[in-house]
Amino acid sequence: MQEACKLAAGNWKMNGLRADLIEARALARAFPAPDCGVLLCPPATLIASMAEALHGGPIMVGGQDCHAAASGAHTGDISARMLADAGARHVILGHSERRADHGESSETVAAKAQAAHGAGLVAIICVGETEAERDAGQTLEVVMGQLRESLPEGATAANSVIAYEPVWAIGTGRTPTLEQIAEVHDALRAAVPDAAMSLLYGGSVKPGNAAEIFAIANVNGALVGGASLKAEDFGAIIAALEAS
Ligand code: PEP
Repeated sequence: MQEACKLAAGNWKMNGLRADLIEARALARAFPAPDCGVLLCPPATLIASMAEALHGGPIMVGGQDCHAAASGAHTGDISARMLADAGARHVILGHSERRADHGESSETVAAKAQAAHGAGLVAIICVGETEAERDAGQTLEVVMGQLRESLPEGATAANSVIAYEPVWAIGTGRTPTLEQIAEVHDALRAAVPDAAMSLLYGGSVKPGNAAEIFAIANVNGALVGGASLKAEDFGAIIAALEAS
């Protein structure tokens, strides 16, 4: 059976100016041949320049969202093909901040993922429960429902990655217990249509907790927000993933 690929993915969110490309270059120098996939998803304004700065190296660049349509009258939006044209290989979809800030439903996420696949991008599809849903004992129901509705037809390990991101753990410094992460990842592994699909954990992953999270079965890497902004911190997380 094919193994899931390890991936350390950084989500810069709405952070980063051209001067911050120095961090991407530092990461490229530190990891000329990483033992895992390494991806940086900067804001759209930096995708092309980051791809150029990393050109020829193993560190990949991705987007943080795309529109479901190929082109047209959608002011302010970006299509999957535009991301690919700018040098992106992946796109994060259905991040809880987009589900909350932009009212994105799982159906919308599935349509975007389909568009991403059509443009040759790997879709990183985010799922995760709120704190109220966890407290109500609904975590697996919510996460499995999002997975079912957000994964489009034709999703495989080659074109899709799942990121389990408990909403209450994002940017808060709080993380689930290792057992809670394991429970969700075991359920995801049993539910994904391709056994080799990579499953990332996301939510306050830091150099100090990365190794124990990567030791959990069915955790194949991380989607990292705040700690991906500095090459030193993200590098320590990448090193922990390489060693896992
Ligand atoms: C994220 O935004 O996907 C995320 C996991 O953020 P942080 O690592 O800052 O919690």
